[in-house]
This record gives sequence, structure tokens and C-alpha cells, in this order.
Amino acid sequence: MPAGEELRAELASVAASLRAYLEVQADSGATGIPRGRRASTSTSTSTSTSTSTQTSTQTSTQTSTLGHGLRPSGEASIKEEAAPTLAAPLRGSELGASTPTSPGLRLPVLEHEVSTCTRCDLHSTRTQTVFSRGNPAASLVFIGEAPGADEDAQGLPFVGRAGQLLDRMIGAMGLSPASDVYVCNIIKCRPPANRKPTSEETDTCIPYLHEQLALIKPKVIVALGNTAAGALLGTKLGITKIRGEWKLYRGTTLVMPTYHPSFLLRPSPQQTDAKRHAWEDLQAVMTELKLPMPKKGSPA
Ligand code: URA
Repeated sequence: MPAGEELRAELASVAASLRAYLEVQADSGATGIPRGRRASTSTSTSTSTSTSTQTSTQTSTQTSTLGHGLRPSGEASIKEEAAPTLAAPLRGSELGASTPTSPGLRLPVLEHEVSTCTRCDLHSTRTQTVFSRGNPAASLVFIGEAPGADEDAQGLPFVGRAGQLLDRMIGAMGLSPASDVYVCNIIKCRPPANRKPTSEETDTCIPYLHEQLALIKPKVIVALGNTAAGALLGTKLGITKIRGEWKLYRGTTLVMPTYHPSFLLRPSPQQTDAKRHAWEDLQAVMTELKLPMPKKGSPA
């Protein structure tokens, strides 16, 4: 194909991706590309540690010391807005982007790039790539391992049995899976026969996730299972050892490692305890995000 035609075809394909993205946003109730969590009524901005005093008319960037004792380093520290209305817990569509920077147009372009990726052999057995579902402006991101058969067929993460349980867990947190959270995986293509991704596949694919997260800028990531926790945190410790304790992704973003929903679905002598622990982990996330605690118990 001549170079001009090739470029035109590429642009048409990017435009189609962008159109699809905007349609998904419209279907999920969003009215456009998200611009940020909340309009600030403040006229001044300050950066402070949690020990400084804020007036109620200022927007503050605070270093979080909530319970976990972790202090994100560098520019991209945890941001909280001190406003007179903060007494009302954040929920629903208020759980939007954690900074005024929107994922903008780069995210659908990245999704398009992923859809044409041939960096590893998984491209030759996939039906399609699986990028994400949910709200790219959300403060809370759930990350799993890799697509399974259902995800490979539908092109969306967590749409099979494990996904149904994940949605119940998100619902039990008082959140909508479609509009309050963002869901994705470490690996964007299904490994054949649902085998675990190899470390080469993870290393090849994870730059896409790093960019996804850099665009979304979540406040909190929930790492579901060994593969997600290991890849995000660079640990070889099993999920049973590290779950329930706050960690930092790249020194900036809080990560709560917990059990993968597939593990929770698998009958085992530890199943009841594991479900209880997973629910405790999600409750810690709710506390961090100042979400109201629902009265009913564990969803699993
Ligand atoms: N398991 C995962 O880790 N991700 C999916 O998308 C589905 C099942």
C-alpha cells in the first residue's frame, strides 16, 4: 500500500477507536471525556504535609498518612482536597480523576496501539486484545492477571465468573463497576489454555499498563492475586503473605494486594477465611477513600 494510503488507513483506525471510546463513555452515563473529580471552588492552591493547617477555602495537596503510614514520594503524591463538603464521603461519580489532568485522547490511542500489538507470541492465539472496562477517570483501579476465554471472546476484562464476583465485591463497596472504578489486567492477551503468563510476557506487556496507570492516576490500586501484586510491586512473596497491607506502586500510588476472585471461587478449606480477608482488604480501601461502610457483610 502506498505510504499516503497507509497513513490514511491508520488515522481512520485511530478515529474509529476514539469514536468507540466516546460511545462507551456516553453509554456509561459519562457526558464526555472526564475533566477531573470535582470543580474546586477555591481560588488558591497550596501543597502541604498533613501537619500543616488548611483553611476551608484552599485546595490542598496532602501527603496521606491515613492508617497505612505510607508516604508516597515525589510530585505525584496522594491528593486530597480539603473543602467544606469533605465531611460528606466521596462516592458515585465524585470518585473521578484524582488530578485535574484528564486521560484525554492518549488513552484510546494507547488502546488502539495495544489492539495491534505483536510484541509477543500471545498475539497469534488471541481473538482480540483486552484493554479495560469502567471509568478511566476513577480514583480506584482493580488489576487482575490476564484475560480468560470469556474476556478474549468479548474484548473486556473480568466478564466471566470471576468478573461477576468482582462486580459483586465492587457493588458491596457501594460502587458501580461501570462508573466508579476502572478494571484492567497486567497482560492484554489471553494466554492459551488460561496458563499463567510467563515472566517474559509480563515484562513485554507491562509497559502498556504503566502508561495506562500514568494516564489514569488512580488514588488506590487493588492488585488481585499473585501475578498482579508481583508485577506491580516487584515481589515474589505470595499473595497470602502480602495481602491486606498497604504498599506503594512506583513510590507514589497506594496498592492493596488481595486475593484474586478466581481463588475465592475455588472451593478450598481456606475459602471462607479468604473471602473474609478479601472483604477486610476492600474495607481498608473504602476507609482510605472515605467511602461509607455498608451495613451488610461480605459479598462473596
Ligand atoms: N482473570 C483475570 O485476571 N482477568 C480477567 O480479565 C479475567 C479473569
